[in-house]
Amino acid sequence: MPSSAYVHIPFCRRRCYYCDFPVSVVGDKATGSTSGTMEQYTEVLCQEIETTPRGESALETVFFGGGTPSLLSVEQIERILKTLDRHLGIAAYAEISLEMDPGTFNLEQLKGYQQAGVNRVSLGVQAFQDELLAVCGRSHNVTDIFAAVELLGQVEVPDWSLDLISGLPHQTLEQWQGSLETAVKLAPTHISTYDLIVEPVTAFARQYTPGDRPLPTDEMTAQMYRLAQQILTGAGYQHYEISNYALPTHQCRHNRVYWENLPYYGFGMGAASYLDGRRFTRPRTRREYYAWVQQLIEAGGVLDCPVTSAADILLETLMLGLRLADGLNLSKLTQKFGEKTVQQIWTSFQPYYQRNWVEMKSENGTPIAGQDVQQLPLTGQLRLSDPEGFLFSNTILADVFSQLS
Ligand code: SF4
Repeated sequence: MPSSAYVHIPFCRRRCYYCDFPVSVVGDKATGSTSGTMEQYTEVLCQEIETTPRGESALETVFFGGGTPSLLSVEQIERILKTLDRHLGIAAYAEISLEMDPGTFNLEQLKGYQQAGVNRVSLGVQAFQDELLAVCGRSHNVTDIFAAVELLGQVEVPDWSLDLISGLPHQTLEQWQGSLETAVKLAPTHISTYDLIVEPVTAFARQYTPGDRPLPTDEMTAQMYRLAQQILTGAGYQHYEISNYALPTHQCRHNRVYWENLPYYGFGMGAASYLDGRRFTRPRTRREYYAWVQQLIEAGGVLDCPVTSAADILLETLMLGLRLADGLNLSKLTQKFGEKTVQQIWTSFQPYYQRNWVEMKSENGTPIAGQDVQQLPLTGQLRLSDPEGFLFSNTILADVFSQLS
């Protein structure tokens, strides 16, 4: 049964030009306690949680994502957490993360979130250059970032993460290096680095064509990826997932649940859940989400959606597991999918093993290198190499999937 819950808070001051997330734009003035829209949303969200049948284990991770969850008041976040605790239970040692944007919170609010149980903050920074923040349509500037970090320092949040984006229009390698070095100086316990994807139906998609200036070339984005790996691992961060770095013992426990393909609850507009082998995504507009929660209440909390097929579970397990530096445990894979399937998987990875994009480790963690591919025992960890295997993960997976399907 799931022991993790994702809670979507869909409000943002404005829509960033690259974003296709399910969000409602509320402008610069609205805040949780004064906005009827946010209050109504909190109510409906709590109703959804109350309708969900209780699992066997208490929640070990809760993640408030968005959107901008720090637009909700302390009382609203506390109310959601109390509802989760009453209906699903929250373990005493649970990791409770809240995404926050610079310029949307003050010291009192931060202390309030902490008292409500939040013990991990994920700060949406993206870049340390005002001109790049403006290109992205972000609602904050660099001064706001430093002020936000100062507040986090004052309350001594035990875990905090900082997000950066590479591959932005007009972004130079020097600017990217500057952002990485500034991030390291601020000493968060966790850093996420995302490569920009120009999603359809965004302002960026109307303005830019991938591969064309002012977007960086593929070669430049690859250089940016390698540079991040070099600077962040050099500063003591472990590259534990394709886009994520953490100081030892500070990995994000919640996000590991996704990459390990484990079940989780999802609550809120546009949120996805994975329960009883079924993936389900909630409606992406407020009106449709509210109507859906009413239907859920009338149906007694039972979702009607198909079970994920065994073939899809296999592809998901490979795609998600290979995002992790630990990779996939072949013994566990054999137990779940059978020896023949694992042999087939290994055969399709062999050309990449020979190219050093894929690595094998023995059960005790020792790298296995230079052996005849036919002789390798299929019992250890299969993983992508860092940085080259990670960098070309899409190419590798597309090829492997075409051979498996
Ligand atoms: S703050 Fe985050 S969720 Fe909101 S519009 Fe910007 S990128 Fe999207």
